[in-house]
Amino acid sequence: MARIIAVANQKGGVGKTTTAVNLGACLASLGKRVLLVDIDPQGNTTSGVGINKADVNSCIYDVLINEVDAKEAIQATQIDGLHIIPATIQLAGAEIELVPTISREVRLRKALQPMKSKYDYIIIDCPPSLGLLTVNALTASDSVLIPIQCEYYALEGLSQLLNTIRLVQKHLNTKLEIEGVLLTMLDARTNLGIQVIEDVKKYFREKVYHTIIPRNVRLSEAPSHGQPIIAYDPKSRGAEVYMDLAKEVCSL
Ligand code: ADP
Ligand code: MG
Repeated sequence: MARIIAVANQKGGVGKTTTAVNLGACLASLGKRVLLVDIDPQGNTTSGVGINKADVNSCIYDVLINEVDAKEAIQATQIDGLHIIPATIQLAGAEIELVPTISREVRLRKALQPMKSKYDYIIIDCPPSLGLLTVNALTASDSVLIPIQCEYYALEGLSQLLNTIRLVQKHLNTKLEIEGVLLTMLDARTNLGIQVIEDVKKYFREKVYHTIIPRNVRLSEAPSHGQPIIAYDPKSRGAEVYMDLAKEVCSL
């Protein structure tokens, strides 16, 4: 049965999408069957694996709002073993459209249920907010992976995220765990990064992954080529560290 992992942090630009795409691709290259689920209306995970949003017939919006079967929205990607349920800009309306619907917080969980036996990992890339889409992801998941950018305000806003996780655990999904906290975009030339690592470790202790993602220009170039880093530049430092992360996730 698949382990369902939500990649969440309501801050934008902390490395959620980069992590969802590249962790997913690396797990697939280790022989795991992986389904990416893009629930960010920006659809960066979708384009990040090379899917042209203009060609998408059914997206996650149809699954959540129109009750289309998840399996009808799944597409293969260029990476063997890596599939995706894409998102298009249509999803931007879902946050509002979900409000008056029945079982609005559990729609994603219900939709993904039949997919659990077909994959080893289902990775959900969340939008930069704590609205109904993120709540759907947390409700559908076994665990949440929190990327934290190694910068000055790294811990700001985390208490809201942890509070949302606690509320979901209490009311919607008692088995939700913290999968791990991932430090991203470390600039090894500054002391600030080291300070952030210490602060985050003090707070989250053994939940912090040993793997720390450095700033790597190849990681930021790969999305514009529609490729995960292991396809775009398999010898880069970025590819190495996301492979390390995939192995660490498998070993937990
Ligand atoms: P989020 O999904 O949290 O908004 P992204 O994964 O889209 O964050 O990352 C924000 C920006 O930073 C993107 O342009 C991405 O390519 C870039 N980026 C992410 N991780 C790295 C990294 N380790 N090194 C360099 N650039 C990165
Ligand atoms: Mg994103």
